[in-house]
Amino acid sequence: MLNSCTDRTVPPGVRDGSSLPCSDWSRCGRFIIRSLSRFVYGIGCVLLLGACGRSVDHASIESIIGETMGTTYQVKYVAGSGPGAPERSSLQAGITAILQAIDRQMSTYREDSELSRFNASRSTKWFPVSRDLATVLATATSISRRSGGAFDVTVKPLVDLWGFGSGPPQPPMVPKADSLAAARARVGFQHLSVRAAPPAIRKQIPGLEIDLGAIAPGFAVDKIAGFLSDHGVQSYLVELGGEVYARGHRPDGRGWQIGIERPTDAGTEVDISLELDGKGLSVSGSYRNYFEHHGIRYSHEIDPSTGAPVRHRTVAVAVVAGNAAEADAWSTALLVLGSERGAALAERAGIAARFADIGEQGIEIGATPAFLALQGSSR
Ligand code: AMP
Ligand code: MG
Repeated sequence: MLNSCTDRTVPPGVRDGSSLPCSDWSRCGRFIIRSLSRFVYGIGCVLLLGACGRSVDHASIESIIGETMGTTYQVKYVAGSGPGAPERSSLQAGITAILQAIDRQMSTYREDSELSRFNASRSTKWFPVSRDLATVLATATSISRRSGGAFDVTVKPLVDLWGFGSGPPQPPMVPKADSLAAARARVGFQHLSVRAAPPAIRKQIPGLEIDLGAIAPGFAVDKIAGFLSDHGVQSYLVELGGEVYARGHRPDGRGWQIGIERPTDAGTEVDISLELDGKGLSVSGSYRNYFEHHGIRYSHEIDPSTGAPVRHRTVAVAVVAGNAAEADAWSTALLVLGSERGAALAERAGIAARFADIGEQGIEIGATPAFLALQGSSR
């Protein structure tokens, strides 16, 4: 069921797009905020199909677009012409079925999803779930450990408390110390166990609840990518709410180009472009969803170590990884850590990451060696 996405996710004073239907996920409004980002610190990603002055045989690139999770998705693929080539309609139907299944498993916007039922339960016994939900949570807890807890899907009570959750819209306000302490006591990935066979999850504290807004969209992109590969599509690009995965080459022989934007006086311009082949890209930004109170900006990116929105100068982090779910989770983790701690961790772990900080002279960009190598090979 579609909810209306209202001021909850839109910065004060901004009206554009406030009626975009929003069915799911705590980042309902990502699309809106992205379209507004040029007024703020717009650093997102944009598909560069046919850019760079070369001609592209558009006739053989098919496109499937739609809406899901309160945002949009698009799939572009090079259509085969042989007798076994999949029909566009069957690919479209398969993609729709994948997205509907993920909604039933992972949405916090519908009470009957697996995740909402787990969240509502106060039992500390094993709770059987789908294989996909167990897989996402296994990836999430692994990245929680590797990020020292900066990424933590059990942050939901805090996301809700700060007004960025799936609950009814509430006026932006800073929570009182006692509610903050109560919410923090319910957070901690170490209180969540995940079992692969048979797939099940277990909370060790009754109040634990999960929000997959920082990883499920990337997971959905990977599922669609896997579906396309399984159906013989060899070259494609999948984008959902800014999470991207691309594989193969376009008909002109070039790879799929993704641009990362930065603000200019006139709006935004593509700052760099990356060629993705068998990789996922995600950009997390604290400018995407926030409110202001007494001149302080509070964003939807919550630092589990403080229980509050991040307060550093880093406003956006782009990550390229082997799949979109990992890129999605790591971009959130590194944004929470900020460029100082985040860049050190990313460098040690060999993660391709690019940080945008607000400096005295405007936006300052820093990137890890792994990211610079990708940038170099994309030229
Ligand atoms: P993203 O845009 O991928 O960075 O995801 C942001 C969303 O993830 C927020 O709207 C929250 O729903 C959720 N979130 C916020 N802080 C965290 C965190 N530290 N770890 C995991 N998820 C988070
Ligand atoms: Mg993310």
